[in-house]
Amino acid sequence: MVRVQALTVVPGVAQSARLESVAYAVGDAEGVQLSTLSVGICGTDAEIIAGKYGWAPPGKGRLVLGHECVAQVHKGAQGYLQGEFVVPIVRRPDPLPCASCAVGEWDMCRNGGYTEHGIKLLDGFCAEQLTVNGNFLVRVPPEIGMLGVLVEPASVVAKAWEHIDRIGNRTHWEPRRVLITGAGPIGLLAALLGTQRNLEVCVFDRADTGAKPALTRQLGAEYFCNGLEKLLTREPPDIVIECTGADELVLDVMRFNAPGAVTCLLGVSAAGRSKAVDVGALNRTLVLENDVIFGSVNANRRHYDQAVAALGQADPEWLHKLITRRVSLGQWHAGFERQSDDIKVVIDVAS
Ligand code: BGC
Repeated sequence: MVRVQALTVVPGVAQSARLESVAYAVGDAEGVQLSTLSVGICGTDAEIIAGKYGWAPPGKGRLVLGHECVAQVHKGAQGYLQGEFVVPIVRRPDPLPCASCAVGEWDMCRNGGYTEHGIKLLDGFCAEQLTVNGNFLVRVPPEIGMLGVLVEPASVVAKAWEHIDRIGNRTHWEPRRVLITGAGPIGLLAALLGTQRNLEVCVFDRADTGAKPALTRQLGAEYFCNGLEKLLTREPPDIVIECTGADELVLDVMRFNAPGAVTCLLGVSAAGRSKAVDVGALNRTLVLENDVIFGSVNANRRHYDQAVAALGQADPEWLHKLITRRVSLGQWHAGFERQSDDIKVVIDVAS
């Protein structure tokens, strides 16, 4: 049996992550054999490493980490040719399946029985080789190539935008201004998709140095690092995409949004932090202003395709600058040591 190096963790146990040799077929028993190129690190991976999230596959103690991945077909099968760039899809439908999973909308799973590579009950992609059923692969054109590591976070953003459009179209809808809180990879990709829709984009983040302000301005968007409440009330956005999960920001975008605004919450907060909120006042403004606040997670195949299209239209130089640090698989540890200027940190699995 061929063995490959993989980054694994015991879910629920802090600091249990290690590099180890695992059996070749991480993923499906049969499918397309892939050589992993890069795996992106996100807040979810950090939570899993801290022992606060994640589930190992049934009967196993350890979970292979990694859900943001770009790989190359090693051995063609199921219509995929050797050398093609591909991205494996994170979520798998629940086996029942529920009404949403039955139509391929596993991102909207109704019974919680879905599984997720590298997160929930399925091994992830931070392994040198993978075998993935072709039905759960997305092709990436060679022009995007290694930048395909951004497809998964972009798919989450593409879903958010799709749902914003659908919700907005409940009535006459001519959005002009969008506010994005948080200039991490999700926030900046949300800003990219906003400018691609010819909207006036405004990004709010705490950082006043580093690459974030310049990356925002290169999109033709505005960048702010203080005065959020003023910004929300002075120039009310039609759309808000909250990407931080930070208590204050979440409350501010819920309390000070404009009449009829659509607010999408994309940032996942930690539980257990309470704040006094005037529920009456909040309910009153939501009702009297026809406001919508909704949460969004994950993505289905349609959103991965939208993500590939959006990245294909973007300036590749700008996309490259989102990846602020690369570490080798052997140095995975350094990838999780947060540096103040980090945007997207990537583990290069192929040496
Ligand atoms: C991933 C999603 C996943 C979510 C919850 C995020 O980091 O990008 O695909 O659904 O975590 O597990």
